[in-house]
Amino acid sequence: MKKIITIICLAITVTSCAQKKPNIIFLFSDDAGYQDFGFQGSKVMITPNLDKLAKEGVKFTQGYVTDATCGPSRAGLITGKYQQKFGYQEINVPNYMSPNSKFLGDDMGLPVDQKTIADYLKTIGYKSAVYGKWHLGNADRFHPLKRGFDEFYGFRGGARSYFPYSNFNGVHHDNKMERNFEIFEEPKKYATDAFADEAISFIEKNKNNPFFIYLAFNAVHTPMHATKEDLAKFPNLKGKRQQVAAMTFALDRACGKVLDKLKELGLDENTIIVFSNDNGGPTDKNASLNLPLSGTKSNHLEGGLRVPFLMKWPKKLKAGKVYDYPVSTMDLLPTFFAAGGGDVKDLEEIDGVNIVPFVNGANKARPHKELYWKKEARAVYRENDWKLIRFADRPAELYDLTKDITEQNNLASQEPERVKMMFKKLFAWELTQERPLWMLQQRFEKYDIDRMDRYRTPELVKKEMEQYDKSK
Ligand code: CA
Repeated sequence: MKKIITIICLAITVTSCAQKKPNIIFLFSDDAGYQDFGFQGSKVMITPNLDKLAKEGVKFTQGYVTDATCGPSRAGLITGKYQQKFGYQEINVPNYMSPNSKFLGDDMGLPVDQKTIADYLKTIGYKSAVYGKWHLGNADRFHPLKRGFDEFYGFRGGARSYFPYSNFNGVHHDNKMERNFEIFEEPKKYATDAFADEAISFIEKNKNNPFFIYLAFNAVHTPMHATKEDLAKFPNLKGKRQQVAAMTFALDRACGKVLDKLKELGLDENTIIVFSNDNGGPTDKNASLNLPLSGTKSNHLEGGLRVPFLMKWPKKLKAGKVYDYPVSTMDLLPTFFAAGGGDVKDLEEIDGVNIVPFVNGANKARPHKELYWKKEARAVYRENDWKLIRFADRPAELYDLTKDITEQNNLASQEPERVKMMFKKLFAWELTQERPLWMLQQRFEKYDIDRMDRYRTPELVKKEMEQYDKSK
């Protein structure tokens, strides 16, 4: 009898432990500007739901992505490691690539021997779903359902219409909205709202078991599609600036709906919510603003790499905290895995760390003393707050980010020994990485550098925005 009671008690303990695993929701925007949210200081954007999330959670002032463009940034995020380690160094847009690449077209994707967040979370009892933009390969073998996710509603490519296609004439297969595997189903509403509704229905279905939702909005990437109602919220803005504001407003509304549903179901206390964005805003494409950072998407100034970053976990993290040491989206995999009861020692060759002990003060050190970024000859080595940027077309630049987050005061000539030492360390790291599996045509390297120079100083950015307002 005693034995039976013990077994029953054990069973109850195990069950209640299983129920205690936190749910995880990662809200991810695309191509948003560093400044373009209320919680980031914008006086223009209307983002009440994300602002509230910032107040209820932790705001990171130095949240980074592993690359300044969509595809590689997602590859680092989803594997918890530098994507250069497995050759995912370049964006994977077929018509930009050199024909001599090892892989091209639909074969450019996250190598199938790489484990994803969803693969790992599955081993500790999570159900996972991804809604929105995948952009980790078009071929069937790269499909989310083959990479650990249980559900998918979205598109495999990098950008598509926010409104439903009435037919698929001329629409590439990676732009079609797909429910799970090859069930093509266009949304009945604006895509941003549709993805949130999918997430809500997944939450309802899985409210009694631990779940992970990767809600990868394509907002606010081009095309600049906004609804009339959302545009009407910004009568004082013009052209693309009005469009990006309306698209951001829709993004915030969609996030709010998901957060409200958690509250309604009583799940919000035991759910980790992270909000971030995949790369710096491409000001020239969608009129996003990264100030006070300089630079944009696709270059290695802070404006390309540093992103809005929030995390709420009522059970473990104090509301309203601001965390100032650098963290990275590659930290999310080990952070989520550890939160779900996994042992980070089981994760293979990852570069990310579980950030919770750092954020809640148990560990006072930096999560990362060193951080790296690389795209061909262009690369960055950050050691503590020193940042070295190496270029193909000009001497390397050195910045002290504690004093100069806008990267206007190049200290390379004043610190030659530091430059030399950092150059060597950067090279040593590069030697541990893989060659790119596909490569951009050289002319696109020039495009990235020209784009950086165009938004090199706050004055240049402001001048262009003024010109832009006048012309529209
Ligand atoms: Ca992007």
